[in-house]
Amino acid sequence: MEPAEIKSEKKKVVAVVGGGLVGALNACFFAKRGFDVQVYESREDIRTAKVVKGRSINLALSHRGRSALKHVGLEEKIVSQGIPMHARMIHSLNGKQSPIPYGKKGQFILSVDRANLNKQLLTEAETYPNTKLNFDHKLQDWNAETGAMTFVRADGTKQQILADLIVGCDGAFSSIRKQFLRRSRFNYSQTYIPHGYMELTMPPRDGDFAMKPNYLHIWPRNTFMMIALPNLDKTFTCTLFMPFENFEEITTGDEVLEFFQKYFPDAIPLIGVEALKCDYFRLPAQAMVSVKCSPYHIADKCVLMGDAAHAVVPFYGQGMNAGFEDCIVFDEIMDQFNDDLSEVLPEYTRVRVPDDHAIADLAMYNYIEMRAHVNSKWFLFRKYVDNFLHFLMPRTIVPLYTMVTFTRTRYHQAVERWQWQNKVINRGLFFCGTGAVLGGSYLLFKNPPNVDKIHIDVEKMWNRLLSTGTS
Ligand code: FAD
Repeated sequence: MEPAEIKSEKKKVVAVVGGGLVGALNACFFAKRGFDVQVYESREDIRTAKVVKGRSINLALSHRGRSALKHVGLEEKIVSQGIPMHARMIHSLNGKQSPIPYGKKGQFILSVDRANLNKQLLTEAETYPNTKLNFDHKLQDWNAETGAMTFVRADGTKQQILADLIVGCDGAFSSIRKQFLRRSRFNYSQTYIPHGYMELTMPPRDGDFAMKPNYLHIWPRNTFMMIALPNLDKTFTCTLFMPFENFEEITTGDEVLEFFQKYFPDAIPLIGVEALKCDYFRLPAQAMVSVKCSPYHIADKCVLMGDAAHAVVPFYGQGMNAGFEDCIVFDEIMDQFNDDLSEVLPEYTRVRVPDDHAIADLAMYNYIEMRAHVNSKWFLFRKYVDNFLHFLMPRTIVPLYTMVTFTRTRYHQAVERWQWQNKVINRGLFFCGTGAVLGGSYLLFKNPPNVDKIHIDVEKMWNRLLSTGTS
């Protein structure tokens, strides 16, 4: 493989702690700038490992993530290995399926394989001669003043390493962040939501996808929901999100079946009765945490990115996308301050914190929208109105989902704009509604109707309703 282009020769050592999605991509960004990049990952190399443990099997990649991949020349390759999802497909209890498009025609999000994406990013990072990947290196401790880090290997041996800049990409339970917590004026909050998640596989049917593949399938059931994303091997990964107490109430295979018969009957033949009864107990439900903190840096020595800085609940499909965007934002600020880390790190905190906090809040909001609001007629009507107004005035009214998923509008600005749009649209609908009522009343007053006729019509209508059994 051809080594990727290097911008300039610099000697500063950047230690990227964590070789997950964001760490591996970040290594490419720093290598491109000419730093001496060392990646330290606690796991063994997933490209050669027999078993890859981790979180969700697949995830939704959208514009922000794609922009970052483009920066390191990987966009086309990753996109070609993903499955476009143009709309949500809502599964009602009675088995009816109704699509709700994500955006305009031609706009889609992509279902990508997490492990494959991570492998490709690691391989890309290795194409830079100034990057070294160190697996089986678990960060145990580090010193913010000196930049000295202590890593433990699987055999128990320890290794001391020095770096000019430490980039903490070690995920939601970051060891790097622990040092931040010991310092004054570091704000930190973490929230576990009451729901857990469990993954189930829907196998192919007669060699093809068991459901329409170009959709993100959703079974919204108010207090819980199931979603399914397609995989290249024609399976679907179904994820059941439910309060832990509900997971724990189900203790036998028959109870699993009973639960699915009640809430997801159309999914039973597609997953398979025996698989369902067995897979439910394969792994316990996993917890989901939302982490907010600030600042993201210590002096010119250390910076947090990805889930280490902002773990978000997965309901906006933005955790990885936001983490990938962190890499671009940091890179843009490096350009702005000519790689001067003492200026870059505080500026990165200043710019990025409000955006990451905004997407953390939005993801929490979507946690309710996905499982409950999509069942509401008002919600569907408002989605329709928003899309229609966006069609008429594409620059003035942009649906929130579009801003978050298909643009790089700063997250906090997207929220502000959404709040403004909501005010304007709701007022408009109120005035239209009031106008229609007043106008109708005026017309009725001016031209009083023939009451006998109305009586007959109402009677007719009532009879028709009774005969069809509708109420
Ligand atoms: P991680 O992926 O957690 O990687 C951290 C790495 O650091 C790991 O490799 C770990 O082994 C390593 N590490 C940890 N501790 C140490 C240590 N002490 N020393 C050395 N290495 C260490 N996001 C989306 O954009 N779209 C989605 O559709 C989506 N779906 C999701 C579904 C679920 C169920 C979940 C849970 C998350 C989802 N996400 C999604 C979020 C996404 O998974 C995360 O935002 C993303 O993985 C963050 O990447 P990261 O590299 O920051 O952290």
